[in-house]
Parts: sequence; C-alpha cells; structure tokens
Amino acid sequence: MLQRTEPSFRESVDLMFNRAAAVMDMSPGLCEKIRVCNSTYTVRFGVRLRGKIETFTGYRSVHSEHMEPVKGGIRYSLAVNQDEVEALAALMTYKCALVEAPFGGAKGGLCIDPRQYDEHELEQITRRFAYELIKRDLINPAQNVPAPDMGTGEREMAWIVDQYARMNTTDINARACVTGKPLNAGGIQGRVEATGRGVQYALREFFRHPDDVAAAHLAGTLDGKRCVVQGLGNVGSHAARFLSEEDGVIVVGIIERDGGLWDDKGLNIAAVLDWMKEHGGVKDCPEGTYVADGASLLEADCDILIPAALEAVIHFGNAERVRAPLIIEAANGPITAGADEILRQKGAIIIPDMYANAGGVTVSYFEWVKNLSHIRFGRMQRRAEESRTKALVDELERLSADKGLGWTLSPGFKQKYLTGSDELELVRSGLDDTMRIAYQSMHEVWRTRPGVTDLRMAAYVVAIDRVAQSYRSKGL
Ligand code: NAD
Repeated sequence: MLQRTEPSFRESVDLMFNRAAAVMDMSPGLCEKIRVCNSTYTVRFGVRLRGKIETFTGYRSVHSEHMEPVKGGIRYSLAVNQDEVEALAALMTYKCALVEAPFGGAKGGLCIDPRQYDEHELEQITRRFAYELIKRDLINPAQNVPAPDMGTGEREMAWIVDQYARMNTTDINARACVTGKPLNAGGIQGRVEATGRGVQYALREFFRHPDDVAAAHLAGTLDGKRCVVQGLGNVGSHAARFLSEEDGVIVVGIIERDGGLWDDKGLNIAAVLDWMKEHGGVKDCPEGTYVADGASLLEADCDILIPAALEAVIHFGNAERVRAPLIIEAANGPITAGADEILRQKGAIIIPDMYANAGGVTVSYFEWVKNLSHIRFGRMQRRAEESRTKALVDELERLSADKGLGWTLSPGFKQKYLTGSDELELVRSGLDDTMRIAYQSMHEVWRTRPGVTDLRMAAYVVAIDRVAQSYRSKGL
C-alpha cells in the first residue's frame, strides 16, 4: 500500500531505517538509540551588514557519537531547517559506517541565501557562525569536524579553520578542525572532485557486477550508456565530466535551476560549465537544445539518471513517469520514501545516496588524517618508490644489452612505471578502494540476506550493523 502523503526528508530517512531494521536482529532499545538524533544546537546571531544588524539562524546537529569526531558538512541555503539538518546528520552516521570512515554523524546548516551577499559579508557571517560553534566544541578536531556542502566550499572552510586557529592558538592540530579546505590552508589533493569521482567509481563498480546490471535491465559496460545529470554544481559537474571524458558515458541531458539542456549525441560538459560560469545558468547556452521545464528531463528516456542537486526531486508527483532503469543518488535524499517504493515496484535499481556520494567524506577522512600527521601523503615514499622501480628497469635494460636480446620497454610504460605515486594518485586509489569495498559489502547483503530487497536496504543493514556493533562493544 503506498502512502498518500509525502513524508518529510527526516521521515523518509526514518522509514528507510525502519525497513532495514525490520530484517535485523536488534533489540528495540538499541534500534531506537541508533535511529534518534543525539542533539541539535540552534544558534541565532546578529551581524552588522550594510549599516544594520541582520539575524541569522544556524544549526549543528549530532546524530551519533558512537565514534568521535563526528563528521558532516555545513550547508548554506534558505531551505535549511532542523528537520533537514537532523536527517542529513543521520545519513552521515550511516554513510561513515558504510565506507568505514571512523566518524560519528553530524550536519550543520545556516539559513541563508549566499548569493545575496558579497564575499566580505559572507566572510563576516561565516566567521561569526563558526565562532558560535567553536566555543561550544561543535567545531573541534577531536570532536566535531565539518566539511563543505551545498552553498559552501573551500573558501568558507578556509575562513572556519582560520577562525578556529585564532581561538585556539596552541592547538597543534587546528587544521584538522574542518575538511574540504584549500590546499594552502591544509587541504588535500582531490577533495574538490572527490564526491563526483566517487560517483564515477561507484558506477564502475556497479558495472563490474553483471547480475546487478541485469537487474537494472541493462547490459555491458558504462561505455555508451546515456545519462541525465541534475545539478551541475560541485558533485554533478565532476561526475558528468569524469563519466563522459573517461568512461564513454553520453550525457544527453542536464538539469539546472533555470532549465535543462538536451542533446541526443551528448553534451560537451566542459563547454556547458564554461557557459554557466559566465552566465550563471544554462539558458541560451549554445550546447544542445534548451528545455525551459528542466525538471521534466528527470522523466526522459535514458539509461542512468544522476540527481546531484538537492533532496526530494523525485516524489509522488513524478516517480511513476521516471523512466531511467538505473538511478544513482549523487545528492542527499533526492528520492522521497514514497517515490522510492514506486520506483522499486517499477523495477528500477537505485544506488543509494549513503553510498553514492560517500566520496566526499572518504577523502575528508584522508584530509583529516593528513592534518593530524602533519605531512602530505607520498612525501616519504614517492622517490624511494621511483628509485626502486628505476633500479629494476635499469637492470632489465642492462641484461637485454648484455645478452643481445634487443628488448626495449615502451616509453609510455617506462614513464608510468617510473613515476612514484603523488598525493592525488594515492587519494584516488584510496577512494577507489573504499568505493569498491563498500559496494561489495552492500552487494553481499543484498544477494544473501533474507528479506533484503534492494541496495538501499542493504546499505542501511551494513551501516546499522556496524553502528550497533560499536555500541554493543561499548557496553550500551
Ligand atoms: P552545489 O551547490 O555545488 O551544486 C548544486 C547544483 O544544483 C548547483 O549547480 C545548482 O544551481 C543546482 N540546483 C539547485 N537547485 C536546483 C534545481 N531545483 N534543479 C536543478 N538544479 C538545481 O552543491 P554540491 O556540493 O554539488 O551538492 C549537491 C548535492 O550533493 C547535495 O545534496 C549535497 O548534500 C550532496 N553532497 C555533496 C557533497 C560534496 O562534497 N559537495 C558530498 C556529499 C553529498
């Protein structure tokens, strides 16, 4: 029986949690402990702007402290509210557990339209918000480590880390108080692209499982698959670029705030991004055909749909008309619980947000470790690795010359083999490994555990199991 009213985002997360918990052997008490949000701090603060005081409302919600620090982004949007922040914090708990990032779940939000303020004003607002959170240890390298989310990015993270350092002058680990920072403020290579890169790795892993591909009524590899991407922001733009430039995916449709673009032969993502940078939207973009009702492209004929903008874009109102057999939730919560049920009944396969967009938190984890170890990845090993491989290549070439074998190594191979791994390569390798292993753990549960009907349920089961084990081992 389908529900008649659309559940809120938090209700959606709860419903999905309950579906998974129903097939697990957990005491009701422990189940409730894991499900509920531990605390939400609401702050209202004033900032003097343009000659008058403006009051802002912000939240930092901690869903679970079974591991510390807790981790989760800070979102700037007018739609931010306590319910949404708590739902996103819960998702962070499960996401971290699923990808084995040793964190509890948290999320923050500021109710603001960042486009209404200039850079200096945003800096004032961000620093003031950060001050309120830092003085309550709601930003702290050991306890609570935010990251960027919708409406925030490296710039905001740089302001926050600087604010923390000013308020904690002797904390040698100050840089680990927030992730997603620019490189010169303690960031890590590959963080900006991480979530989109993770979406690419997730899809690659999905296509390594022919039974899962067949379940989506698809066949073959990613090459040549037709895909629609909603939201060409940080996550969507990287996913669209990597998939089209490296995996042969044809991005036939793009949906943005001000409409959509369509091209059966595939859109040139780099060109669309250049246009958007200059004009702020996709309207009048010479790439493809402009579609004024962008959201209608969610229902277009394609193989893969990638909602990468915001939550609840697939709902009771349009789920029945969504035709993509494979949907990967690059955004958080783009499919409501009601729509999820409709899509599952139609046979669509959904790669859930908890897994699909975990690339960001995975690389954030690497960044946090880098900050705590005070050294960039690869700095100690890279040249040692290069000199060892060079010794092997030299020896092979010497043997070949001595014995008159005439062997020559191809220059491409030689260059690749002789180059030691730098930070970016190591980050991508760690991310790829994480996405593969997490998918395999979901796949295993999906295919073998009685009562588990889909990947989302499997993801919740894996994650809840891990959080439950953590609570049990603490004696709770
Ligand atoms: P972003 O602000 O960089 O990009 C969002 C994009 O969506 C923008 O281009 C915006 O114009 C577009 N958009 C907004 N409303 C739209 C609408 N109604 N229709 C179509 N397009 C619309 O945000 P982001 O960081 O890319 O995050 C996108 C989603 O991914 C969010 O749900 C976020 O929680 C999730 N996410 C982000 C990260 C990360 O590392 N940035 C990590 C995990 C999850």
